Order: sequence, then structure tokens, then C-alpha cells
Amino acid sequence: MKKEGLHSPTTFVVFDMEWNQPIPYIPSPIDPKLLPGEIIEIGAVKLVMYSESEYTFSQPISITVRPQYYRIMNKQVSRVINKSTDDLKCGMSFIEAYDDFLRWCGEDFILCAWGDSDISILKSNLKIHGLSAEINDRFLDIQPFFGRVAENTTQQRSVAYAVDFYKINQTDDFHSADKDAYYEARILKEALVDYFVLRNREPASDNKNPFPTLKQYISNPNLNTQKKWKSAVCKTEKEALALAVAEKMCCPICDTDLQEVIGWFSSGHTWMSLWQCEQHSTLSAKVRAKQTPQQGYYGAGQLRFVNGNAARYVREKWEEKQKLKEKVKIDTNPPDNEE
Ligand SMILES: [Zn+2]
Repeated sequence: MKKEGLHSPTTFVVFDMEWNQPIPYIPSPIDPKLLPGEIIEIGAVKLVMYSESEYTFSQPISITVRPQYYRIMNKQVSRVINKSTDDLKCGMSFIEAYDDFLRWCGEDFILCAWGDSDISILKSNLKIHGLSAEINDRFLDIQPFFGRVAENTTQQRSVAYAVDFYKINQTDDFHSADKDAYYEARILKEALVDYFVLRNREPASDNKNPFPTLKQYISNPNLNTQKKWKSAVCKTEKEALALAVAEKMCCPICDTDLQEVIGWFSSGHTWMSLWQCEQHSTLSAKVRAKQTPQQGYYGAGQLRFVNGNAARYVREKWEEKQKLKEKVKIDTNPPDNEE
């Protein structure tokens, strides 16, 4: 595990949360943009990795949180997680619950979840309660990791899909935080086992589609990992795009010039490119033309850190484009001598 920069044993804290949402026809006690969901349950399981093939699981924990803002159960949410407004009167305050959760996590672990929505909901809840939104500095999103390792795909799969894929014995329904965390931890374990088998098999020197390292899937959720920019307003879409892609690309963290990995190319209405910061790994950039109310255009750009899957997506789009170009070349220049 030395190659991965992980020491032994490594603890993965897999967490999952359930949250209630505002009800559209009731005036919200708080701006839903600031609090898109209020946490009502935190579930988690620890997965400890002793070697590439030895793992243990902790008992799942479940902490019920009493919401302060969204105290009437949203019907859509209720259908999924099967809780009523009465259930929302139970549990401890978010501040107490989060404190308990952190104490249970301990020190030195990699925080994991399925997708990135749990992280963003957690951050909004921390902010609303006046706490620092800074969380554990290592985060692994299991969803893209599973996609790459299990199926070599960038498609987003559900937890239920992955449970099925690994034939994990399903004894409970989904959609309670501790059960979901338990299944996600089981999936992570299977994916890690597969990952090490694959990595030991695939030659590392395949430059065209290098097998990602585990580290490429671990990010720091506290860093400002994206940058947005807008070009000046132009008369045509084309001019606006040209201006936007001429922007100098600097790392959002350390501000050094980025190295171009794949230069700007168009894919449908979007222009894409791939970049590298020597210190802070891979970034993708996208630009789209947008219209102003005065019939002008500007280019809107976004530069952000990407995991192995997202980087691969850009690479695949670029390869598609190259193939298309080749095809056009062949079609317009037929070979002069056919045998
Ligand atoms: Zn950097």
C-alpha cells in the first residue's frame, strides 16, 4: 500500500445522511438556497484496511437529528425514507449529533460517501448552525471509484445497483442512513479488493489510458477547487467562445500556471480542455456561450479539479473528436489508387 501513500491500517469512515426538504407551498423559515436539505439522520460504518485483501467493518451507527427549520415532513422525501412529521420531533440537535459523530470518527481517516451530495448538504447544515464548514481533509467518493474499478465506466450507478453487482447479501431495505452506510462500506471493500487486483495486473506505463491511483479518487473537500470566469460581451457566439478559451489557466489553489494536457476542443455546444497542476493534480475546464438580454454573447468558463473518471470523460470526448476528424479526412481525400 506504500505506492498509494496510505499507511497500514487505513480507516475509511463511510457516512450517509437523510435530510428533509422544504415544502414548496409553505413559506420557508429559511432561504432554501442556503439550506437545501436539513439533516435528520446520520449513519456511518468504519471500514479498516489492514492490507490489500484484509478488511474489517465496525457496527453501523445511527444518530437521529431533530430538525430546527424543516419540521414538517416533505411528502416526496417521506416516500423514500418512510418517516413522518412525528418522527421529526425525536433526536438530538444537529450540533450535539455532529459532535457525537466526530467523536465516533476519531482521528486520521478517509471520509467516504456515495456521490457528493452528502458533503454539500453537510456543509450547508454546518454553516446554518454557525459552525465551521471545514470537514475532514480527505474525501473519497465511492460512486466514481466503483464505476471505474467494477465496470470501467463513467456512468453513475445507484447503491442498489452496486449491491446487486457485487452480489452483496441484502437483508434490509435501502434509505435509512445506517443501512445505506453499511451497504456503501461493503461496496467500497469489494471495490478496493478489485482495485488492487487490477492495479497489480495493468502495466502502469500505459500512457493513453493510465490506470488511476487510489489517490486520484481522494480529494480535499475544503479547498476552493473551482474557478469561474466570464468573457467580455461580443456580437457573436464564436467571438465570445474564442475570448473565453484564451483565458490564462491558473491553479485555483496555488495560482501557478497549469500545463495543458488536452487543448481546447468543442463537444456539442461545450468547449473542453484538460490541465495539470504539478502540485494539485488534474483539472478540467469547460466553456459555453451564453446570451445577454441585449442579444450579445459572452463565454462562461469553469475550471475545476476532477477525479480519474471525470478526466477520462474529457479524454474520451477528445478521442471521439479525433476519430471524427480522421473520418472526415478519409471521406474527403479518397485514396487515388484502389487495387
Ligand atoms: Zn496547484
